[in-house]
Amino acid sequence: MMEKIPFWKTKTLAEMTTTEWESLCDGCGLCCLNKLEEWDSGDIYFTSIRCKLLDNESCRCASYENRWDFVPDCVQLTKQNVDEIAWLPPTCGYRLINEGRDLYWWHPLVSGDPETVHAAGISARGRTISETEVDVDDFEDYVVDWPLTVGDEARAKQPETAK
Ligand code: SF4
Ligand code: SF4
Repeated sequence: MMEKIPFWKTKTLAEMTTTEWESLCDGCGLCCLNKLEEWDSGDIYFTSIRCKLLDNESCRCASYENRWDFVPDCVQLTKQNVDEIAWLPPTCGYRLINEGRDLYWWHPLVSGDPETVHAAGISARGRTISETEVDVDDFEDYVVDWPLTVGDEARAKQPETAK
């Protein structure tokens, strides 16, 4: 029997169809958290403060099609700029493929289930506060590092069925 090799293992990002490209997003919501940039070093820090359009539970954008009407500075990830966006979390599907790595067990393309990303604990589900509830001057009180480390524990949690 011939096993079909999944598209993300055979194609570069540039070769993917729009549908394939879109499906690389695991729905973690981490890129929709506010980030702070240190003015002198340029270092970027994640906060637990979510964009006003991000749903705390589903981790989806509430108005994806019209988001720029509400959030003009929302960054659209594209095949052209994926290389330049240094703040994509290490678990991001686009970052992994762009770096020549594989998707992990929790990715919906691997598991076949959009919930595994939450079960693995790598998503923003239930641990963010809306930017509408925090004064911009207080953003630095919400700096967190879990968006960068969630994958470490999740990799060890790989269920037997996914091995
Ligand atoms: S960080 Fe990457 S995988 Fe997660 S929601 Fe954003 S684009 Fe999708
Ligand atoms: S507008 Fe939507 S896609 Fe853009 S950062 Fe906010 S929640 Fe994310």
